[in-house]
Amino acid sequence: MSAQPPESLVPPSRALSTRPLIVLALLLVIGLIGFGGYRASEYQGMQTLRTDAGHRLDLFGAAVDGIVNRYAHIPATIQLSEEVLALLRKPRPAGSVASANRFLERLNGHIGSLAIFVMDERGTVLASSNWKQPDSFVGEDLSFRSYYLTGLSGQVGRHFAIGITQGEPGYYVSHPIRDGERVVGVAAIKIGLAGIDQAWELLGVPALIADENGVVILSSVPDWRYTALSPLSLDSKVEAAVSRLYNNRPIGNFPVAIDASLGPEGQEIHGGARLGIAPGRAQLGSTYLVHGRQLSSTGWRLLIFSDLQPMRAQAIGHGALAAVATGCVLLLLLVVAQRRRILRQKLEAKALLEQANAQLESKVARRTRALTDTNARLQKEVAERQQAEQTLRAAQDELVQAAKLAVLGQLAAGITHELAQPLGAMRTLSGNAIEFMKRGNLATVEQNLGIIARLADQMGRIITPLKTFARKSPAIPAATDVAHAVGAALFLLDQRLAKAGITVINHCEPGQAVAWCDQNRLEQVLINLIRNAGDAMADSPTKTLTLAAATTADGVELSIADTGCGLPEGGALFEPFFTTKPPGEGLGLGLAISRDIVREFGGDLRADSRPEGGACFSLHLPAAPKEQP
Ligand code: ADP
Repeated sequence: MSAQPPESLVPPSRALSTRPLIVLALLLVIGLIGFGGYRASEYQGMQTLRTDAGHRLDLFGAAVDGIVNRYAHIPATIQLSEEVLALLRKPRPAGSVASANRFLERLNGHIGSLAIFVMDERGTVLASSNWKQPDSFVGEDLSFRSYYLTGLSGQVGRHFAIGITQGEPGYYVSHPIRDGERVVGVAAIKIGLAGIDQAWELLGVPALIADENGVVILSSVPDWRYTALSPLSLDSKVEAAVSRLYNNRPIGNFPVAIDASLGPEGQEIHGGARLGIAPGRAQLGSTYLVHGRQLSSTGWRLLIFSDLQPMRAQAIGHGALAAVATGCVLLLLLVVAQRRRILRQKLEAKALLEQANAQLESKVARRTRALTDTNARLQKEVAERQQAEQTLRAAQDELVQAAKLAVLGQLAAGITHELAQPLGAMRTLSGNAIEFMKRGNLATVEQNLGIIARLADQMGRIITPLKTFARKSPAIPAATDVAHAVGAALFLLDQRLAKAGITVINHCEPGQAVAWCDQNRLEQVLINLIRNAGDAMADSPTKTLTLAAATTADGVELSIADTGCGLPEGGALFEPFFTTKPPGEGLGLGLAISRDIVREFGGDLRADSRPEGGACFSLHLPAAPKEQP
């Protein structure tokens, strides 16, 4: 399986190397949005300030116009007064000055202006509302005043000026006094401007009013008063000096340069500390926005100064807020992206796991199928093998039986000889018994019959072991006394051994060695070995067969030793069909079958040559388990 790693599983080293760049990019985005927020808020703030300033200018301009123009029409009405006209006639009627003074005093008292006065053709004040006061205008020569000259020329004169007697500033409005067509004098009113000074507070921001010459005549900041917004031209200076507009006060320069063509956008003034608006406050770096309005009725300019610092502080706050909000949103997006990435990785891992699982399952299923097939094949093979084993065992049993029968065949001659003798005796005794019965000698008959019965028993004893030996029985292991098996074998071969002149020395004692095997088969093995020993000693001068049994630590040992010709050189004794006997006497199967029988019991059969001559066959058998008491 060669699954590609999912793309999202970026190697940690690469992820680490890109992280500072991502952080830098995010900080840049936050910074940009913060700056954008600051600029947007600043722009909005500026717009609000401009709108606000526009409203303030409208309101305050209307108020100033109201104050200044409220009594501007009064001088025009003076010429309607008979007292005033009488004053200007020539010759002047007696008491006309006093009555004109009283009229003007009454009128001024009624409207509340600073003063109302009447000048003759030469500019001398003939009557004034303040005639009673020590600093009365009466007798003053005001021919240098611009409003007088304008009035004398038949027009309405109006301008700001500082009073020369009291030094009090005011707005002067003049009007010609006509007697018929001729201008005989000039009437003037001095309107006080204290009301405007009191209104500054209501405006809420620093402000000033400059006259037609650009000289500040009224201001919320006292230091600004009588300073020129822009340097005065020579004409203006001469005019001001001649008409003593500012009562010969020195006119300084305004602390900062103000743009003469001030548009609705206003003018930004940096370094606001120079304005001296709020000396107590740290003004370094503070900026003001100046807005202006031309007051149409007077020709004055109204300027207001809006502090930009609070707006800037608010803009910085908004910028910071935007940056923080952006940071939060980005953080949120990062968290969401991270969660989605983790989720995707989990899903991919799950998919991989499921894939691996499915592959594993199919592999297991394949293996299981293969194993089942193998198992079935093995079971079939086992069954076949068992079948073959059964067949083999049956064949072996048949072979063993055949070998037995072969032995029996060879024993038949001896057995026949052994049975012939009792049979002959029985024949003679039964003939005699008949004769004795005819003679009535019953006692001898009885004796003969007794002998016959004993002979029959003897024959039975000869036949019974043969029957037992010849019986075809399955090999069933059991506790077998080796001495019994040896005895049975010797009994069957007794005739043969005796005939061959062999001396049998049997050391086996009953109970001495008990092996775990089938007695019938053990007898067959022993008969084979004893018969072979007999054959080997056929030509030996000494014919001794020695049998011995013993129980050792690992089983039972049984030895059959002879004094025969010894084992053939290089002979494969236990190979089937190996024989040194002449044809018709041996098949060469005896030892092969004997070893098979012994091995089937879990034992072994060994052949050795004896040093003194002859051969010794050793049988090793498992010992029978000890019986539980
Ligand atoms: P068979 O007796 O039919 O020849 P066996 O398998 O019993 O077959 O014996 C094989 C051969 O082993 C015999 O032909 C003989 O040469 C040899 N042999 C068996 N027992 C002895 C013995 N006790 N001494 C010498 N040779 C023996």
